[in-house]
Amino acid sequence: MDLSYILNQLGEDREHYFNAVAPPIIQTSNFAFHSVDHMRQCFADEMTNHLYSRGNNPTVAILRKKLAALEKAEDALVFSSGAAAVANAVIANVQSGDHIVCIKSPYNWTFQLLDKFLARFGVTHTFVDGTNLQEIESAIRPETKVLYLECPSSLTFELQDLAACAEIAKRHRLVSMIDNSHCSPYFQNPIVLGIDISIHSGTKYLNGHSDVVVGVVCGTKAMIRKIFELEYMTLGGILPANEAFLVIRGLRTLALRMQRSEDSCRKIAMFLNQHPKVEKVHYPFLETFPQYELAQRQMRGNGGLFSVELKTDSMEKVEQFANALQRFLFAVSWGGHESLVLPICGLFNIPEKDDPNLPWNLVRFYIGLEDPNVLINDLEQAIELL
Ligand SMILES: *Cc1c(COP(=O)(O)O)cnc(C)c1O
Repeated sequence: MDLSYILNQLGEDREHYFNAVAPPIIQTSNFAFHSVDHMRQCFADEMTNHLYSRGNNPTVAILRKKLAALEKAEDALVFSSGAAAVANAVIANVQSGDHIVCIKSPYNWTFQLLDKFLARFGVTHTFVDGTNLQEIESAIRPETKVLYLECPSSLTFELQDLAACAEIAKRHRLVSMIDNSHCSPYFQNPIVLGIDISIHSGTKYLNGHSDVVVGVVCGTKAMIRKIFELEYMTLGGILPANEAFLVIRGLRTLALRMQRSEDSCRKIAMFLNQHPKVEKVHYPFLETFPQYELAQRQMRGNGGLFSVELKTDSMEKVEQFANALQRFLFAVSWGGHESLVLPICGLFNIPEKDDPNLPWNLVRFYIGLEDPNVLINDLEQAIELL
């Protein structure tokens, strides 16, 4: 199925709503039955019939079809946040006594899910260096049920060989899952490489306008039904119809936005890579990146994220640099229209919190949709302060 069809047509039964081009927002909590027999039919399968919007809502259903097709998956569920998507996918596949192998330094709230939340319920984990297949495989125990990946990983963008990880997971009968937010389905399709479940914070590229918090889980029909029938319905972390409409609207321009961020980011990463005040650039498509060959093999692009280590011996200088930027908003998240800067030194010296296990001169950038030359000029003036 081609991308244009998915983004513009798939899932949209326009003859059911006056041939309106934009889909309707079915803002309802419940749906009326026409008879007792119809009621029985609806209760027999809440996932496909219309009974209650915590289960199946028609606006949300349009979005689910598009997201599944984008990931080349059989089906998808959407959630009220990326964190809810991660939690539902993991919880659905473990029980007390089970063990999870996860790459080290995953997204912070994924780390908390494993380290604090699931630990309370007797589910243990081992964090492994995802660049080392041998380390992944030796961490697997008889009670291991899940292999959890994030590729590229947050902040320094190490990769895992997805096809090889899928093969290891199959051999040991583990459910493999990946947080694929960084690439979006536009640049990487883990399910095609054999991974069982692909998860997204749709807050980032999929919605793409920094105005909705949303999560996505893609997998086989059987896996998605399993998650629907218990975790989705009991935890109830659903996306409302209004928000689903906004995400569908955001998706219309997915290809344009991804390509723009990709092109601008590459240009800016190259500019900083040759700058004398930059120590190191973390960007998978630089020839000096340790996994450059793997990046080319499994990713069609990187999108707008990269990070740099600035050449300075003073944290104050890093702060001055970040404070001097005029065209980058100073914020968490990414994947919207706006370029962002996140200096890691801002996570240091917070009372009662440990400093992160990252270099203080590390600065993460997200390149949005602005003119890249405007962004380069801004970086040039700020970097002179180092
Ligand atoms: C933002 C993010 C999440 C969490 O998503 P929310 O939509 O904020 O709940 C998960 N994983 C990664 C890699 C993220 O960047």
